[in-house]
Amino acid sequence: MALEINEYDLPLMAMGKETSEAFSKQMNAGYGPRCPKCGSENIARIIWGDPVFYDGLIQDIDEGRVHIGGCCVTGDDPEWHCNDCEEEF
Ligand SMILES: [Zn+2]
Repeated sequence: MALEINEYDLPLMAMGKETSEAFSKQMNAGYGPRCPKCGSENIARIIWGDPVFYDGLIQDIDEGRVHIGGCCVTGDDPEWHCNDCEEEF
């Protein structure tokens, strides 16, 4: 019997369903600081390196909850991205 895998399942499989759900829950909880520059709460979490794929990632990006950073991680990278003034902190 062949194992059926469709494209939609692959990111979840790569990450592990539990991690994915926990991450997704955190993203959806509205957890985030205010922008230190303009005070906006319209903040996206920056994902550095290879994007961590989880269910709903594309939607989170579209709706400004997640911002994809660069591929190069220096170890001292900002964690948050302001969607209003582009400040990263
Ligand atoms: Zn701002």
